[in-house]
Amino acid sequence: MIRIEHPYHDLAGGRWLRGNLHAHTLRSDGERGPDEVIADYARRGYDFLAITDHDITTTAEECAAWTAAHGLVLIPGNEVTAGGPHLLHVGAARHVEAHTDRQAVIDRIAGGDGNAGGFVVVNHPSSHANFDQCPIALMRAWTGYTGIEIFNGVAGRADGSDYALNKWDMLLAEGRRVWGFANDDAHAAEGDVELGWNVVNTPSCTPEAIVAALRAGRFYASTGVTIEAVHVGDDTIRIETRDAQRINALMNTGRRFARSDGRAIQVRVPADATYVRFECWGAGESFAWTQPFFVTRS
Ligand SMILES: [Zn+2]
Ligand SMILES: [Zn+2]
Repeated sequence: MIRIEHPYHDLAGGRWLRGNLHAHTLRSDGERGPDEVIADYARRGYDFLAITDHDITTTAEECAAWTAAHGLVLIPGNEVTAGGPHLLHVGAARHVEAHTDRQAVIDRIAGGDGNAGGFVVVNHPSSHANFDQCPIALMRAWTGYTGIEIFNGVAGRADGSDYALNKWDMLLAEGRRVWGFANDDAHAAEGDVELGWNVVNTPSCTPEAIVAALRAGRFYASTGVTIEAVHVGDDTIRIETRDAQRINALMNTGRRFARSDGRAIQVRVPADATYVRFECWGAGESFAWTQPFFVTRS
């Protein structure tokens, strides 16, 4: 008997909401003030956004005021920056100072007693000229983070890679349960918005519900492709999209085991798979990435 554990149960009961969790403003090295950045996302029909300046936490109070003014949900956040690989603090109830001991930072955000609320996403792991802003060794050593940016929009115009799918597959193959996020990391006044986003299935459009759904993996990451349905059977998985032109099914470790040249795919889980995930390719360089489906046997 195999068992497929996944975050996509009862999707029909929720709404799909689209958001970016990583954006900068004039408070750190962004080129626009918060109101201008938020208005840009609101104009594009986004449902939620996190302003995550470097080592500056946007508070729940600020977010509530911005939400009222702009009509999209603002989620408190911070990009822990100084002294090491960058970590996104999403849904921050209070500020956590950067420290060179990144495990201590993760513990303060996601640990038990007195934690600072929210969760941690490792930012742009494959940016910089060595394609290694966050080495796999650190991600293997750390515990308690929720996910990694498998796509970071702004990393695409700097040295290194905007994608970190290879590191994600390594972690998943080693049994780590980490989610894949796609974010803009918007800085510039032009061209940095609507590069990558997360589409969350949640029963209500509040910051708490969105953060809870993200933490539970109830979302997919996208740079342009829309997923419409996920069906999981005893040993089968079916993915339906609106606009994919090809869908690849992958398993440990990054191995493609099935492909469909169309908008949907149905696969039987291979006997030696410990996880399965799907990459949905659309027009140009657009993708949607499902979260992993974890396979256990008894
Ligand atoms: Zn960064
Ligand atoms: Zn950033």
